[in-house]
Amino acid sequence: AKGAAMVTAVAARVQAQRKLIDEVLSLFQLTPEHLVNVKNKMRAEMEYGLKKETQPLATVKMLPTYVCAMPDGTEKGNYLALDLGGTNFRVLLVKIRSGRRSLFDHIVHCIADFLDYMGIKGASRLPLGFTFSFPCKQTGLDKGTLVEWTKGFKATDCEGEDVVDMLREAIKRRNEFELDIVAVVNDTVGTMMTCGYEDPDCEIGLIAGTGSNMCYMEEMKNIELVEGNEGKMCINTEWGGFGDNGCLDEIRTQYDTEVDEGSLNPGKQRYEKMTSGMYLGEIVRQILIDLTKHGLLFRGQISERLRTRGIFETKFLSQIESDGLALLQVRRILQQLGLDSTCEDSIVVKEVCGAVSRRAAQLCGAGLAAIVEKRREDRNLEHLKITVGVDGTLYKLHPHFSRILRETVKELAPQCDVTFMLSEDGSGKGAALITAVAKRLHLKKDN
Ligand code: BGC
Ligand code: MG
Repeated sequence: AKGAAMVTAVAARVQAQRKLIDEVLSLFQLTPEHLVNVKNKMRAEMEYGLKKETQPLATVKMLPTYVCAMPDGTEKGNYLALDLGGTNFRVLLVKIRSGRRSLFDHIVHCIADFLDYMGIKGASRLPLGFTFSFPCKQTGLDKGTLVEWTKGFKATDCEGEDVVDMLREAIKRRNEFELDIVAVVNDTVGTMMTCGYEDPDCEIGLIAGTGSNMCYMEEMKNIELVEGNEGKMCINTEWGGFGDNGCLDEIRTQYDTEVDEGSLNPGKQRYEKMTSGMYLGEIVRQILIDLTKHGLLFRGQISERLRTRGIFETKFLSQIESDGLALLQVRRILQQLGLDSTCEDSIVVKEVCGAVSRRAAQLCGAGLAAIVEKRREDRNLEHLKITVGVDGTLYKLHPHFSRILRETVKELAPQCDVTFMLSEDGSGKGAALITAVAKRLHLKKDN
């Protein structure tokens, strides 16, 4: 009888623990109403960003990019591209040959090759496009003032300065070669351009990687910050700042707050912090710490490792969430991270990762639904067929993110037929393409 009582007591404890875990996970479950709400609020913030009067206070900045034309296949020549992103800094030499398809089967040079190449005396002054994956207020294709650093960058004395000026000055200081800097390009814009080259329906660029952002082609008449009503211009929405005015507080959790407060830019980029690779692992870590504090994980022991910021990279989340991964393998991954887990622990960790990445994909989908619906309404269409050029490690590597994102868009924007097109190195090649288009248009003007 004593044995039976003990079994019952253990069962009751297990049940109580399960209840607590479920409570935490339920904080990350979004109802259809939540998602519709996010979509509607995103739409409202976008409209604020486009209007002159409300733009200064808008959280979704909707920055004009001065990219107004897509490649038409007649661009050709050699272009340099400079790509400063979340994880990379690269210099590329892109050779564009006219001839639509074969165009991109081309060479990427590392910096050393590039210097060699430039070392050739009498080399021509190459036109260059600079992919700079941070919010820039542009007043021209080659003019962009850094609004603020995101994604953990903190180089001093750059915010409020023109990044093209800074680059030109540095080139001058070095005094070894000359370059014709034609464009500063956000990575979303480069991605859209690269995909637009192959698919004329591509009017949106999405990055779901270290950071999160989206750009799209807007009617000039809707862009109050830029004179003129003819044609279209690409808008860099900088939607990562969505929620910075508190409009997402209803769905933010204590774990989101903790991640925000421990970041380099507290209070900023709140939507990005719920949706992008740089932060998802951090949200997971905060939840695991909390569950451990409550004695629900890791035998109640918070290890030094678990206290360490940044241990859960996207790549680990992706591995842990892979279908068909045996629990033993999850435990092994946790072990690699220095976390000693039981079999039950690994089940819970996998659930936590799933809840966090699922919410990220849904939120990102709700944002995307807002923009495709806007495009549909703006064009007075019953039905819109549109392509989104996508890049980013979260979208490309995570086992479920892209599917949940697509499902959410379908549910929230049923009148839009959205195709997702993976961009191959859009942020690099896109800058070269934009530079090439600008040169082509410029030549036309000169003739
Ligand atoms: C930046 C955007 C960029 C995005 C994706 C964000 O942190 O503010 O400019 O497009 O990351 O790289
Ligand atoms: Mg990048």
